[in-house]
Amino acid sequence: MNDAPKKPPSEDVTAISKAAAGAVLTIDLGAIRENYRRLKAQLGGVRCAGVLKADGYGLGASQVAAALLREGCEIFFVALLGEGIALRRSLGPGPAIFVLNGIPPGAEPDAAAADLSAVVNSLAQLAAWRETASRAGRKLPAAIQVDSGMSRLGMPPGDVERIALDPRAFDGIDLRFVMSHLACADEPEHPANERQRLAFERLRMMLPMAPASLTNSSGIFLGQRFHHDLARPGAALYGINPTPAGPNPMLPVVRLEAKVVQTRVLEAGVGVGYGHTFHTTAPLTAATISLGYADGWHRRAASAAWFEGVRLPFLGRVSMDSIILDISALPSGKLRDGDLVELLGPSQSVDDAAGHAGTIGYEILTSLGPRFHRDYVGG
Ligand SMILES: *Cc1c(COP(=O)(O)O)cnc(C)c1O
Repeated sequence: MNDAPKKPPSEDVTAISKAAAGAVLTIDLGAIRENYRRLKAQLGGVRCAGVLKADGYGLGASQVAAALLREGCEIFFVALLGEGIALRRSLGPGPAIFVLNGIPPGAEPDAAAADLSAVVNSLAQLAAWRETASRAGRKLPAAIQVDSGMSRLGMPPGDVERIALDPRAFDGIDLRFVMSHLACADEPEHPANERQRLAFERLRMMLPMAPASLTNSSGIFLGQRFHHDLARPGAALYGINPTPAGPNPMLPVVRLEAKVVQTRVLEAGVGVGYGHTFHTTAPLTAATISLGYADGWHRRAASAAWFEGVRLPFLGRVSMDSIILDISALPSGKLRDGDLVELLGPSQSVDDAAGHAGTIGYEILTSLGPRFHRDYVGG
């Protein structure tokens, strides 16, 4: 028998068409580029990287990276080795990709093969990267992370002192940056900011001379003395307010809309949704939309959607794949099956939704699930 005809490989098998999807996530790459330019303006001449961990805060690392490249961004940070390998594949050779969590033991050759830069957080990671360089017979790029007071990642001061005394510590290492991370940068009055800055500057003096990097998005707004040689913003690029006490200096980036599945009139005295946590006290009009906690809209998350600026409160619990809305505020027949209601956008920002849910915008974005039709605009 002859070979059965093979289907041509399609890049797009996982992409969900707008017609088929229950919800649409629109990502404005033009707004991301404008946010990058605004951060650069804050930074004066200081270089600015792009942080793309967790798939670009849920918005698509490769699309975001391509947009930032066009703004001249040449340094990217991801959290995990796997993210770095995927990003290298999508970006091709050239831009620097740093792996914040460091390279897991044994995976160093994979990291070197993908031309990734290690963020070295410990003496063990330093020794392993040195060893890998020696086996490879070439210098390997790295940033050393020191712990200036967050107690999460990076070498504690005692370890920095130890390697400062070891003339071979950086054999084979192409030291690109000395870096650290701020724990409280979104609280400008927090005394830890200045403490961390001073600790960082003391620690970096013990290491071989290299450019320094301390600040995330919020730290950029703490003033020039936090800028050093490279900033590492993530959240602000994606439209999250880096100055939560004041107005948002960034442009919004995402819009999330869910489709109406069906509408109905509910009589007085009926239970609505799982657990009947809501009962109607008067007749009302309800709409069920195609989005639920499986899409990252947690049961505790914000409890209203919007249509043409009209607030439509949730009724009862969020289900896995659906939410019931009270649409009585709209004229009868206004909202039809297949119409899109807004969950995130001009009526409800990511930070608003986070505030209602008792969380932060970072968690809202990185929770957004894989079932949406994704529309990239403004690239
Ligand atoms: C996540 C992260 C950043 C970016 O922080 P944002 O608050 O999103 O700007 C920068 N540096 C490190 C080490 C990080 O883990």
